[in-house]
Amino acid sequence: MNDCLFCKIVKGDIPSSKVFEDDKVFAFKDIAPAAPVHVLIIPKEHILCGVDEVTAETADIVAHIFTVIPKLAKELGLENGYRVVSNVGADAGQTVRHIHFHIIGGAELGAMA
Ligand code: AMP
Ligand code: ZN
Repeated sequence: MNDCLFCKIVKGDIPSSKVFEDDKVFAFKDIAPAAPVHVLIIPKEHILCGVDEVTAETADIVAHIFTVIPKLAKELGLENGYRVVSNVGADAGQTVRHIHFHIIGGAELGAMA
């Protein structure tokens, strides 16, 4: 059984505020936004737990995500800029081990940690 929270969101077993979807990726609003705009973009398939697992064989989905991000950012009105973040492991505070990228913006963001 797959107990992954984000797999459940993709399946619709857990509700989410979807902002974009294609055959490969799903994007939805973060439930605890860190800024006025805070969206998560994930592969629909649980093929990678985090950036730490990306290999030459699996990099295609990451490349695809990075073609969607600028389009999505435009749709979300982030002309003034935004931040893309992917937490990896305990020190970064990764809580969901299904690779995801945070798209954060809509205000001037503080300096990075
Ligand atoms: P990370 O801490 O980088 O693993 O990111 C996980 C993110 O998922 C956090 O920013 C959470 O606020 C967010 N999150 C957790 N549960 C949900 C949910 N049900 N719907 C939307 N976002 C969620
Ligand atoms: Zn998953």
